Amino acid sequence: MKLLFDSEGKVNYDKLDKDTTVEDILKAIDIFLNSNPLPCEDCEESCCKKAWSVEIDNICVNRISNWNNEDSSDFVRQRLVKKRNYYREFDQYVLNKEKNCHFITEENYCTIYEQRPIICRLYICIDKSYRYNVVRELIGSTYLQALIFEEEMRNNSISEDLIKEYKRNPAVFAKGYDIALNDILNYAEEEGWLYDDERDELY
Ligand code: SF4
Ligand code: SF4
Repeated sequence: MKLLFDSEGKVNYDKLDKDTTVEDILKAIDIFLNSNPLPCEDCEESCCKKAWSVEIDNICVNRISNWNNEDSSDFVRQRLVKKRNYYREFDQYVLNKEKNCHFITEENYCTIYEQRPIICRLYICIDKSYRYNVVRELIGSTYLQALIFEEEMRNNSISEDLIKEYKRNPAVFAKGYDIALNDILNYAEEEGWLYDDERDELY
């Protein structure tokens, strides 16, 4: 898949294949932004210095913590706070901050750039098509929910049935973003986040 400007001047993608992975989408974004760079260094209204939430996913936390379960839980306890996602009706973790993201420097450099949250990797501060926004939001929700589930499994003795339920989320215990978008869309349908006819429009 490839990102491009559509006839309305919005960021859009050409097509999704059945085997497109999340990693493919992230690479397509990087390629698009290389050709259409954003003026981050001189940006006075930096998106990293706003009051809005920085949502944190499981891969980001595990990478920052070198895949050490104890360190991951410490990071969650010390740096994050739970926030309800009322749109999707689940809890997620966000940075415990007032304004600036903890990882932005005065010069607008992200100090965890290689491990930054997926939500930051999917963000483009230009008008985006509806279907790009749907794909972005479903990927983000799946990985954000995965951190909640992983953290609960790390710290609580929960029933086998609940563990089985949590593992339906394809991002739980994933080692990266190389999971099939199809698996995320299947999960989104099961969760009632996506309807059949909406899904057809994404391809
Ligand atoms: S991505 Fe953020 S920092 Fe970069 S130009 Fe857009 S708003 Fe500014
Ligand atoms: S993690 Fe990095 S890219 Fe994301 S909001 Fe913070 S400084 Fe910005």
